[in-house]
Amino acid sequence: MFYTITEIHEILRKKQTGSRFVHTLGVQYTSACLAMRYGADLEKAQIAGVLHDCAKHMKPEKLLEKCRKHDLLVTQAQERHPFLLHGRVGAYIARKKYGVDDPDILNAIEWHTTGRPEMSLLEKIVFTADYIEPNRNKAPNLEKLRKISFEDLDRAVYLILEQTLEYLQESPQDVDEMSEVTFRYYKDLLKL
Ligand code: FE
Ligand code: FE
Repeated sequence: MFYTITEIHEILRKKQTGSRFVHTLGVQYTSACLAMRYGADLEKAQIAGVLHDCAKHMKPEKLLEKCRKHDLLVTQAQERHPFLLHGRVGAYIARKKYGVDDPDILNAIEWHTTGRPEMSLLEKIVFTADYIEPNRNKAPNLEKLRKISFEDLDRAVYLILEQTLEYLQESPQDVDEMSEVTFRYYKDLLKL
């Protein structure tokens, strides 16, 4: 790590809009809370949480350009909606610019938008924290989801994906195939 978390705050506060920075802090602290609950590493949870959207301020062309330049995978859905790439590019920036070398932290950043099958505890924590952090207020059932997140993390992941896919149903071409794959994996895992 090239920076302390406080230094990362200073950098991101300048790059992000006010509401995104508040969301970033929300995800950092919610990740820490979930790490306390499930016995994950608090430091790793906070680093992954604070950096999860570190590429989200980039314009679509810039995200695509970064991927081309550094040989990062771009799926068809991501080609159409480059914002879906902010996780993958974020992990790249976390490694190169912020000096994160822990693969679990980098994976948690890379997969925070869609999730993926067989996520590690840290990956599930950041995925869930992104959805339930206290400054979010638009998604339905948040009260229930927040409670379940601290009771059964796999179930929370499943419910978040179900809700996300439902929300995207009107525009199926916008769905990243990985969200569906992840949804089916957790559905099977929970025997639903
Ligand atoms: Fe994000
Ligand atoms: Fe986010």
